[in-house]
Amino acid sequence: MGEMEDLSVVECARCPDLAECRSRIVNGVGPADADLLFVGEGPGANEDDQGEPFVGRSGTVLDDALRTAGLARADVRITNCVRCRPPENRDPRAAELANCREYLDREIDAVDPTVIVTLGKVPSEHLLERDVGVTGEAGDTFDTEIAGETRTVMVSVHPAATLYDRSQEATFEGTIQRAADLTGAGGQSTLGSF
Ligand code: SF4
Repeated sequence: MGEMEDLSVVECARCPDLAECRSRIVNGVGPADADLLFVGEGPGANEDDQGEPFVGRSGTVLDDALRTAGLARADVRITNCVRCRPPENRDPRAAELANCREYLDREIDAVDPTVIVTLGKVPSEHLLERDVGVTGEAGDTFDTEIAGETRTVMVSVHPAATLYDRSQEATFEGTIQRAADLTGAGGQSTLGSF
């Protein structure tokens, strides 16, 4: 079994409500050694249908911002806090986030990214374990212990926020550019200034 398969959950019914409603478990995608790991909240309807995180309109916004920063979707890894779609797109419950945390930690530990970008309030608060104002803190980095190591987490607004509020577009694109710069991947690296 390859490393990618090791990071995939094939069967799980820890969250009865989600296991009952989902079409499939949506695992992370992208290189298992990616420098940049995006963490979203959980699958929506499109993701549940296609079996991949951040497809549909949010995925297009993310792809566009990555391209602007000199990256392709295939360069980064994308996963979620919960791997099964909550019914009617409700937020995942605390117990569901806790149930799925082991899989997320395992993925973070294996990928060992330079930067973890949390896309929206739920993943930001889940990984930083505090209240987060995503608009005010977007692009800021925080060192926090995850899966036994101190890791760099960068807060981001959710890509869908740019669809409802155009003023969030620059915030989102700026965050992705900053994350790319930190990894030295996309455009100009600013590693020298750190
Ligand atoms: S959300 Fe995670 S823990 Fe819950 S049933 Fe799905 S894979 Fe299992």
